[in-house]
Amino acid sequence: MKNPKLFVVSAPSGGGKTTIVKAVLERHPDFEFSVSATTRAKRATEGEGKDYFFLPKEQFEQLIRQKALVEHEEIYGNYYGTLKREVDRALLAGKCMVFDVDVHGGLSIKKLYGNKAVIMFIEPPSIQVLENRLRNRKTEDEETFRRRMARVASELEIGKQFDYRIVNDTLTRAIDEVDEIITRQLSSN
Ligand code: ADP
Ligand code: 5GP
Repeated sequence: MKNPKLFVVSAPSGGGKTTIVKAVLERHPDFEFSVSATTRAKRATEGEGKDYFFLPKEQFEQLIRQKALVEHEEIYGNYYGTLKREVDRALLAGKCMVFDVDVHGGLSIKKLYGNKAVIMFIEPPSIQVLENRLRNRKTEDEETFRRRMARVASELEIGKQFDYRIVNDTLTRAIDEVDEIITRQLSSN
């Protein structure tokens, strides 16, 4: 593609970004997923180099010093960052890229890439529904669950600055809405 785009999906934890990003990648097999680096522990369902590059803190800090990251944030006590080489490689190959990053990361990518980046914020129907979904996912212990919920209000506020806001009520409807935005963006390219 002559003018590939960077599609960023952000949401509070449990908001549905992983699920929605997966569905987008299934519908667009030619898109690439931006595999971030993180210092958080790998979950049983995750793969090294597929969901994240799982790194020790020292190695992550070395990437910061080497300016190998487009952006990075400390979230819930761990580092997360977008690898410059991943983005450069996709853009050079003319491929659209999909990002699953937090709201600050989303705004940083927009600031850096301007119109090339399309930032989408996935909103939960309510905080209570979000809490239930995160609990039902059963990936967090009580302490990390609490930390994740503590960030929600500020994330919802920052989400107002995004190009698009999509309410994740019915999953298929939310996926369709994201896909419509992507299709519209590509056809106006
Ligand atoms: P995130 O990546 O934003 O933390 P996930 O994609 O892991 O969120 O979704 C959190 C949980 O909620 C998962 O168990 C997922 O299957 C579920 N989920 C996501 N969207 C919906 C929806 N619209 N309705 C019901 N459950 C949902
Ligand atoms: P999780 O631990 O649930 O996989 O992710 C926690 C948070 O980190 C999510 O909001 C996710 O979008 C965000 N995240 C993942 N990778 C990156 C990244 O490279 N940069 C930023 N800023 N946030 C990220």
